[in-house]
Amino acid sequence: MKTSTPSSSSADALSKRHYIGTESILSRLQKVRKIGQNRWVACCPAHNDRTPSLQISETQEGKILIKDFGQDCDIGQIMSAIGLNISDLFPENTKSQYYAPTKRARFDAAHILQCLAQDTRFVFMCAKHIATGEPLLDSDQKELLTAYARIERAFAAGGYGQ
Ligand SMILES: [Zn+2]
Repeated sequence: MKTSTPSSSSADALSKRHYIGTESILSRLQKVRKIGQNRWVACCPAHNDRTPSLQISETQEGKILIKDFGQDCDIGQIMSAIGLNISDLFPENTKSQYYAPTKRARFDAAHILQCLAQDTRFVFMCAKHIATGEPLLDSDQKELLTAYARIERAFAAGGYGQ
């Protein structure tokens, strides 16, 4: 009698979920801070990020959304910087629905504001200096442009840009 080797295809497809969970991703990032339910910020691993600009969210379907509001690093660069592949972000069955952040509002206003708290505070301080006729230090001027760029990108990413 012939013993048939079970056809592995369907069983393997189920067990072969090398999908990386949010926790595993967060454990590879620096300065991780939880800012809400299934929402975190961390330093972007793909550029020299001093204040956390990377936003990580997990949707109800278990999809992991990652966006860099600092220098808008490519998701591929971000993943490879922590030794992972883009495909690690998706459960096998949703691989076809490749996630790329679109211009539509993926991040709500409150989420964006939380991320920009430091930048807006800095811009506010500079504005106060300028309004009272105090000159800005060169370093502050540079920082101001960075903060401005971060705010602009965050607005655009949230679908609030022009
Ligand atoms: Zn980055």
